[in-house]
Amino acid sequence: MQVQSVWPASESEFQPSLKQLAYGNSYIVRMRIRFAFALTLILIAWSASHASDLALTGAKIYTSPTEPPIENGSIVIHDGHILAVGPTSSIKIAPEATVIDCRGLVVAAGFWNNHIHILAPGLLHVRASSTNELDKVLDTIFNRWGFTTVFDLSSVLDNTLALRKRISSGELRGPRILTVGEPIWTIEPVYVRDFLQENHIHMPNTQTPGQAVALVREHAAKGANGIKLFCGSYQGQGKVAVLPLAIARAAVEEAHQHSLPVFSHPQNWEGVNVAIASGVDVLAHTVPQSPPWTADFVSRLKSANIALIPTLTLFDFEARKENGSDQEREAWISKMVAELRAYAQAGGDVLFGTDIGYIDHYDTSLEFTLMSQAGMNYQQILASLTTNPARRFRYSDRSGHIAKGTDADLVVLGADPAQDVSAFSKVRFTIRAGNVIYRQK
Ligand SMILES: [Zn+2]
Repeated sequence: MQVQSVWPASESEFQPSLKQLAYGNSYIVRMRIRFAFALTLILIAWSASHASDLALTGAKIYTSPTEPPIENGSIVIHDGHILAVGPTSSIKIAPEATVIDCRGLVVAAGFWNNHIHILAPGLLHVRASSTNELDKVLDTIFNRWGFTTVFDLSSVLDNTLALRKRISSGELRGPRILTVGEPIWTIEPVYVRDFLQENHIHMPNTQTPGQAVALVREHAAKGANGIKLFCGSYQGQGKVAVLPLAIARAAVEEAHQHSLPVFSHPQNWEGVNVAIASGVDVLAHTVPQSPPWTADFVSRLKSANIALIPTLTLFDFEARKENGSDQEREAWISKMVAELRAYAQAGGDVLFGTDIGYIDHYDTSLEFTLMSQAGMNYQQILASLTTNPARRFRYSDRSGHIAKGTDADLVVLGADPAQDVSAFSKVRFTIRAGNVIYRQK
C-alpha cells in the first residue's frame, strides 16, 4: 500500500496550518521570530546602503574622452560602484546619502599612472612602516594627483605586494596597484646601481632564456601583473647593455602564456628594435638615444601594437641633474616631445606615465603641458589617463570611464581641462572604490 505524504510536494513556509497540526503553536512562534529577524536584516541592509551612498552633484562630467560632457551632472555611488550617472535633474539621491557639492567643478574617471615605482623613500619598508607614515607618502605621490590605479614598473615584488594588501584591506588610502616586480636585465642600469646598494636591495641579473622564463613564472605565481624588460640598460658614457633577443623572446612568450603584458625600457635604437622583434606590448619611455622617429618607424611600432608611455617629465628631471644650459635641456626635451608627437599623430596608443618613485617630481602639470606641446588635445590626454590603459590592461569593463556598474574611481578637478590641460593636475578630490582618499584642504 502506498503511503500518502501529508506534506505538499513543495514545502512552503507560508503553509503553516499543516505544520501547526504536526508541531502545534511553537512552530508558528518560531516562524514569526524568523520572519521578524529577516525583516530586520532587510531594513538594516536598506538603511545602511542608503546611508553609505556618496553623491557628487552639479558637476561637469566627462564620462569618457569620446562622449560629450554632461554640463550639470550628478553621480551616485553605492558599495564601491557607480549606481547612477546623468543630468542632475534625472538622478535620484537618497536623503541619507553623503553629498559633495561639485558646482563649478569637473569630474572624470580616476586616472591611471602607468609608469611609477614603489621605490620612493617611505615606501621601501612597507611591513615596518606605520599606517600614518604610508598614508602620508601615498597622499604626496599618488592620491593628491588623482591616481586611482598605478602600474609599478620595477620594484621589490614582495614589498609592493605587502603595500597592495594593506591598501586593498582598507587600512591605507591609496590607488589600485599593479606591478611587474623585479625587472629582467643582464645588468642593472648605472643610475640605479648606487640606489640598490645603499638600500640593500638585491635584483637578479638574467643571463639566459631559461632564467627569464623562471623569473616570469615565479612572478606570475606571486601575483605580478606584468613583466618589465630592460631591452637597453644604460651603463654610462653612452654605453648600453642590450638584452639578447633570445632572452627577450623567451620572457615575452612566457609572460603572454600567463596573460601578462610586457613593458620595455628601450634606451637606444638597438634596444627599441629588440623590443619590437620580441613582441613587447608597451614602451616604458620615449627613446633618448634614437634617430628622429620617421613615418616608417612609427608605422612599425603601430603595426606591432606597441603602446607608448612618454614620461616627458623624467627627461626634464634628468637634464636638470646634468646641469647643462637651458638651451641644451630644451633641445633634449624637444626631441622627446617630437617622438610623442609622431606617435600620437599617427594614432598610436599613448599611456600616461611619469616615472614617479624614480623621480621625486610628483607634480603632474609639466607632463600635461609637454603632452599638449606634442599636439595632444585634452581628449587624447584624458584617454591616455583613463580609457587607453584600461583597454590595454583589460580593465575596460570596470575602469577608465564613468557608467553604471563601473568601479567608483573618480577625480574631481577644480578647473576644466578643455580650457587648459594643466587642469588635469588641479585635483580637489580623489575617490577610489567609493571612498574619498584625497580631499584638497
Ligand atoms: Zn621607471
